[in-house]
Amino acid sequence: QQITTDMASLTKEVERFAENKKLEIETLKVRENYRKEFIGNISHELKTPLFTVQGYILTLLEGAMKDKSVRKKYLQRANKGVERLIYIIKDLDMITKLEVGDLNLNKEDFNIVELVQNVFDLIEMKAAKKGITLTFDKEYDESIFVIADRERIQQVLSNLVVNSIKYGKKGGTTEVSIEGLIKNKVIVRVTDNGEGIAKENIPRLFERFYRVDKSGSRKEGGSGLGLSIVKHIIEAHREKIYVESELGIGSEFSFTLEKDE
Ligand code: ADP
Repeated sequence: QQITTDMASLTKEVERFAENKKLEIETLKVRENYRKEFIGNISHELKTPLFTVQGYILTLLEGAMKDKSVRKKYLQRANKGVERLIYIIKDLDMITKLEVGDLNLNKEDFNIVELVQNVFDLIEMKAAKKGITLTFDKEYDESIFVIADRERIQQVLSNLVVNSIKYGKKGGTTEVSIEGLIKNKVIVRVTDNGEGIAKENIPRLFERFYRVDKSGSRKEGGSGLGLSIVKHIIEAHREKIYVESELGIGSEFSFTLEKDE
């Protein structure tokens, strides 16, 4: 009797062990695929600007160098390509840090109204080029103090406002609004009346390298990492990010922050 019970529990234990190993292997496989996909995406993203730069250099080497005005134009274009590469690498660096949890938040008490104005000042030219008006609607007057990593929140706002311009319509509007919520929270909204996003694409927006319109978005620049950086930063603050959008009507991205009472 004793031996049978021992055998039965031993078999159970072996089965459990095998099951656990199987799960471990599955997890490793998923991770390995994730890694492969990430590397595949990176090489793809880097290839386009690199080929552009190489194209201009080769044309210069093949004789275009002799013409002074062509020389300048091609060098400027090659430089644009290099700038784009730097931009992508910076985003990659940021996403890697965020994903391994290596990004220490430097929380401080700051006026979010001022931050929105800073972001507007930096992006105004870009908006004006597309005839887009930036407006700011706030519940309070000059100051709303929040506790967060100022630099990172500036990046969040800047990514969202730049997107609203990239995917906004000519002559449209981007509105940033700040509203107090219950429980010492504020909600910051970035609303545009641009192209909007179809319902089926919304769940994937925050994935790395995800773009609704592969060719259209690439023409607009960017690395496809902007929203995934935004999400990571907000989640590192243990706050929430939301998106509401309707195709042809516009989009609203919003996130919460801790208010300093
Ligand atoms: P990208 O570098 O392509 O802009 P993001 O991660 O910032 O990368 O955005 C991912 C995709 O989400 C974009 O390619 C675009 O299709 C969509 N998107 C982001 N913001 C908006 C917006 N305000 N309106 C419409 N589509 C948007």
